Amino acid sequence: MIKRFFTYYRPHRNLFLIDFSCAIIVAILELAFPVVVQWFIDDLLPTGKWSLIVWVSIGLLFVYMASTGLQFIVNYLGHKLGINIETDMRQQLFQHVQKQSFRFFDNTKTGHVMSRITNDLFDIGELAHHGPEDLFIAVMTFIGAFWIMLTINVQLALITIVVVPFLVWLIAFSNIRMNHAWKEMYGKIADVNARVEDSVSGARVVQSFTNEKFEIDRFRTDNRKFRKAKLVAYKVMGYTSSGIYMMTRLFILVVLVYGAWLTFNGTLSSGELVAFILYVNVLFKPIDKISALLELYPKGMAGFKRFTELLDMEPEVEDAKDAITVPSLRGDIRFDHVTFGYDDKQKPVLNGIDLQVHAGETVAFVGPSGAGKTTICSLIPRFYDVNEGSISIDDIDIRKMTKESLRSQIGIVQQDVFLFTGTLRENIEYGMLGATDEQIEEAAKRAHLEDFIAGLPEGYETQVGERGLKLSGGQKQRIAIARMFLKNPPILILDEATSALDTETELIIQKALTELSKNRTTLVIAHRLATIRNADRIVVVTEDGIAEQGGHDELIEKGGIFANLHQVQYQS
Ligand code: ADP
Ligand code: MG
Repeated sequence: MIKRFFTYYRPHRNLFLIDFSCAIIVAILELAFPVVVQWFIDDLLPTGKWSLIVWVSIGLLFVYMASTGLQFIVNYLGHKLGINIETDMRQQLFQHVQKQSFRFFDNTKTGHVMSRITNDLFDIGELAHHGPEDLFIAVMTFIGAFWIMLTINVQLALITIVVVPFLVWLIAFSNIRMNHAWKEMYGKIADVNARVEDSVSGARVVQSFTNEKFEIDRFRTDNRKFRKAKLVAYKVMGYTSSGIYMMTRLFILVVLVYGAWLTFNGTLSSGELVAFILYVNVLFKPIDKISALLELYPKGMAGFKRFTELLDMEPEVEDAKDAITVPSLRGDIRFDHVTFGYDDKQKPVLNGIDLQVHAGETVAFVGPSGAGKTTICSLIPRFYDVNEGSISIDDIDIRKMTKESLRSQIGIVQQDVFLFTGTLRENIEYGMLGATDEQIEEAAKRAHLEDFIAGLPEGYETQVGERGLKLSGGQKQRIAIARMFLKNPPILILDEATSALDTETELIIQKALTELSKNRTTLVIAHRLATIRNADRIVVVTEDGIAEQGGHDELIEKGGIFANLHQVQYQS
């Protein structure tokens, strides 16, 4: 885990080296200071040469100034290093999430992903900065200070070292508890995030059921759990730092008394006593630092662990090693004995489906909801991979194609159109990034959006609210259609694109869709049988698979399931 963590330093090697060297110089200067004080008291003061004292002070002033400059560098560059690493990780994780397959998004809460990409990484940056640097400096200062203390007075130095194991034990003990506490805390804040995400995206549902109070209570529970987890962490932290404080101060008192006695005896000069006490501080400081590190380490590592957990989730649908780029498909789609289920434990949704759609054909799928129509269509762009059997387009197995080239040839218009925050133009352009204004306007025209956009004061530059809520279903639908005109794919999937519309809007959309599906292989899933009258072929899907297929009139004549559906709809 640590080794993996260090790989993130590689791109910032130089920054790290500069920062590290400056930190070492600062530490050496700090280590030398008590020696200078001792010399000042024992050797310089008794000479009584005032001018010498002034010169020494001026010299010290320059050393301090240099040290201040170096400390600034250490601080700034160190944090820069940390932030760089944090940003790299965040970018990497985002890219990884982009690669994930549908099943990942089916099973993952948005809030949890958000947490991992934001909060979880906060402490990693700090750890990356402070970790190796502080650890090295602390060990170096500790050894240096102890060595000098031995040269001043062996007895005092040995007494000092006895305290160290106690301090280390205290720190190690709290570290274990802290580790646990931070991990808890991260889990809880992720829950809070998930709750916020849920209730904001579902705000309309919440309000229409007037369940605000219920949501508030649920949020309070999670928020309190987070508070509790964080409090536990802080409590452990408080105990540790108070314990350390008390131990070190008590000890300085011991040194002071024992040292004073040695001075009376004449075994220790007063300069040496002062220097020694200064060194006790120098010696304990690294322990303080390490304890701070030990607090930071579990925090950072808990985040890093969650980071790697997500990073190690392999996307389910991936390009084969020798995947080919298909330049342009005609659109002959064939399902061969396709079996597929969302969950291995449950009965598969599709069981040995055979189906053929010819290039340029318009095929309509009808049947009860939950039968698997959407599922059939999700398999064609490889949103999921089949469990058994195969799907091929133009006689090439889709698993042999690169995902990118396959999906770039399939356009999907769903009932739920997702609009991104941004302008209308940007939302249409999503169909073909980099499209010119003329292309966008042409697409809008063909999607019958022209009049609507012309009526808006800001036209194409109108901001679409978050998720496009300011637009009606029909308007959103037409934006999706405009996107498709830009994308211009040979294969088109219309999944209940007109189901939620009123009859008048449906007529306009139907016109746009008919135009869109010209010269394309089109798969239409529809509830309203009127919308599929124009299909070349109708496929009736039930829970047992494909029940019947054929032309509209042919199926009516046959008097099977479709004929029944038809009758029910036209009677009501
Ligand atoms: P249709 O489009 O014909 O209404 P679907 O293809 O959406 O039917 O659904 C077929 C079955 O698969 C249903 O039982 C549904 O509950 C299940 N299902 C659909 N999508 C998912 C999913 N993302 N995860 C798990 N089960 C799913
Ligand atoms: Mg469906």
